[in-house]
This record gives sequence, C-alpha cells and structure tokens, in this order.
Amino acid sequence: MATQQLVAEINAWDVAQRQFDLAAERLQLPAGLRKVLREPKRALIVHFPVKMDDGEVEVFTGYRVQHNLSRGPAKGGIRYHQNVDLDEVKALAMWMTWKCAVVGVPFGGGKGGVVVDPSKLSLRELEGLTRRFATELSILIGPERDIPAPDVNTNAQTMAWIMDTYSMNVGYTVPAVVTGKPIPLGGSEGRTEATAQGVVYTIQDAARHLGMDLRKCRVAVQGFGNVGGISARLMAKEGATVIAVSDVRGAIYRPEGLDIEAVSAHSRATGSVVGFPGSRDISNAELLELDTDILIPAAMENQITAANAGRIQARLIAEGANGPTTPEADEILYANGKFLIPDILCNAGGVTVSYFEWVQNLDRDLWSIGHVNDKLHEIMTRAFASTLEASLREQVNMRTAAYLLAVQRVADATSVRGLYP
Ligand code: GLU
Repeated sequence: MATQQLVAEINAWDVAQRQFDLAAERLQLPAGLRKVLREPKRALIVHFPVKMDDGEVEVFTGYRVQHNLSRGPAKGGIRYHQNVDLDEVKALAMWMTWKCAVVGVPFGGGKGGVVVDPSKLSLRELEGLTRRFATELSILIGPERDIPAPDVNTNAQTMAWIMDTYSMNVGYTVPAVVTGKPIPLGGSEGRTEATAQGVVYTIQDAARHLGMDLRKCRVAVQGFGNVGGISARLMAKEGATVIAVSDVRGAIYRPEGLDIEAVSAHSRATGSVVGFPGSRDISNAELLELDTDILIPAAMENQITAANAGRIQARLIAEGANGPTTPEADEILYANGKFLIPDILCNAGGVTVSYFEWVQNLDRDLWSIGHVNDKLHEIMTRAFASTLEASLREQVNMRTAAYLLAVQRVADATSVRGLYP
C-alpha cells in the first residue's frame, strides 16, 4: 500500500524534465535552448462525445502532445488507459523526441492518450471512440505532420480505424498517416514484434559487453502485452530461462522456467497469465525483486523507485516500458553495479520499424521481413554501441549517456534551424 501511494505521487513529467536537466547540464546547453527543449511545442486537449451501446452519450478526454519537431514530423503512440493525464502524455512525448534521436530516425516526439479503461467498452464503442478521437486529432495529424502508432491498449485495429477515418475525411486513402497498421493496409512486416525484437537486440549487445551467456540466464518480465509478451517469447527462443511474467492482474513465478507459448495460450483462454498451472502467483512488485539475471520492465512508468531499487537483484535491466525507473532509482542501481538499458534506447525498435513502415508507404514499396530485421538490427546495434561508448567515456550511466547523444542531436537541429521569425 505504501509503495502504491508513493508510485501515485511520482509525476512522469517531473521525471522526464529532471532526466533532461541532467543531460543539459553536462552538455552545457545554452540557457535559451534549454528553455525551448524543456517544454513541449504544443498540446491539444479534447473532450468528445461517444454514443454508448445503451444509447447514452459519454464524454471522454483525450490528449495529443508534440514535444519537438526540429528533426521531422511528430511521431509517437496513442494509449488508452484510465490513468492517462496531460503530464504523462507530455513526458511520453518528450521521451519520443529523445528516442527518435538516439536511433537517428528523422522524427520529432509526439504522444497521445485517451482517459478510458478499454476493457469496459464493447468493440463497437471502442471503434466509435477511436473514430471520433481521430476526427478531433485531424487538425494535427498527417503523414508530414504527426504520425500516431499503437501504445498501451491500442493495436493494429485501432490504427486501421484512425487511417480509415482520416482517409474518409480527405477523400482518398492515406496509409502513411499512422504506423503499426494491419499488413493488408500497408503495415510493415515485423512491426508487431519490432519493439520486443529491439529489446532483445540490445540485451544481446549488453550481455556480450557484460560477459553473460543468455543460455545460462534467468529472465523476469513485467508486462505481457505487445512488448513484454513478445520479449518473453524471443528471450526463450534465445535459450534463456523465463522464470516470471506478469500482467495487470498479477505475476506468475516458476524458478525452473515457464513455457511461454503455454502461458500465452492460458492468457488467451482465461484473460490473464495468473493461475497458470505449475506456477506460483506472486505480485508485480515481488516480480521486480526476484533472484534473476535479467529484468525486463515492460508495463508502466515508475515501477523501480527509491523504495525498491536497492532490492533489485538482476544484473541487467532492459526497459521495454517507457519511464519505468525514476532518477533516484537510477542512481541506486548504478551505485549497485547494475547495467540498465534505458527506455529511449531499449524500446526504440518499435519506432524504428514505424519509420520503415512510413518510408514504405510514401515510396509505395514493400520490404521483406528479412530486410526489416537486418536494418533494425543494424540501427539498434549502432545506437547501443554509441551509447555504451559515451557511457564509458563520460563515466555516466547508460541513461545519461543516451540522453547526451539524443539531446545534443536535437539541440543541434533546433539551433541550426535558428529562431523564426
Ligand atoms: N508507442 C511506441 C513507443 O513508445 C511506438 C511509437 C511509434 O512507433 O511511433 O515507442
């Protein structure tokens, strides 16, 4: 309960600004540039009506934030969650700016969200909500302007509805307005797996650096959605032993290892991983502190805080989620010799393949899965190597190292463009 209260008090926007300040200070960014990069360029708040199945009208609140557009159009997902608020979306948009810069894809940072628990809506209500939200966003989005993608509780179907709504409004089909679409609508091969695939590529690079053999490693994964679920499957494919996974209802633990395909089947059949035969039910908080070699937080923000960082046993932490670790926890983990692959690097595979999808749409081209994964591997490995190099050279943790690279790139783009007017 105490931990729960603490988590609720941590403000993601405050965390994001403090992470930026650390890098800006080290880079000795000019004060004016610092003020520009510290705030989002624009934020849209909408309240919009949706006709529910019982005939009543419900009003929902949604946000779209564009943090910095110096390097290209805004890019970032849309999440549906009951706890979404403006500060969270601002933080997520800022993180997208740095993420795109770390891997060098030509986008700025954006993010959107709707305050809703989608598990309480019917498919028809979800479609209505998505189409009306897309209409409200139409003053901002577009293939050259702002390109949404899936995030927490949204998926390829959500993107299909947004793409269709936007296309109906302009009168012709515009595939490049969103990424993460179904493949028949111009979605890219490999996009669904891309975030998890990128997580695993960075884990391979980190393991090589640390001298860890993945076939001898135990892995705990928090979250069983598009990132956590697929990361668990891919880590098992690498020969690692996945000892714990979790979802919103709780975690399951089996020290000898879990059969991830069977856990997925159980989750599809029952709606949760909890209660998987042969495993022990534990809490999400307990999962983080398990005796494991690798920990993949792939759920929500503020999971590793000053309250539990000292008890994390994993040597390697790979942030599949955005913002799972607070700045205080970063310091504790670094002091304890933990190696953390930060979100803006670790989970950048998703937006990287989103970029591939956008390029294919604009070029009317189709890439093979082999080509997508080869290019993804090349980009992730290069980004990991430059971050590690900066971390060793500057004697800072991997998060600050990634920020040094990213913030410098965005600062260069922003300052060389100059001030208008
Ligand atoms: N929502 C994902 C993220 O947080 C993907 C964003 C995108 O592909 O635009 O990185």
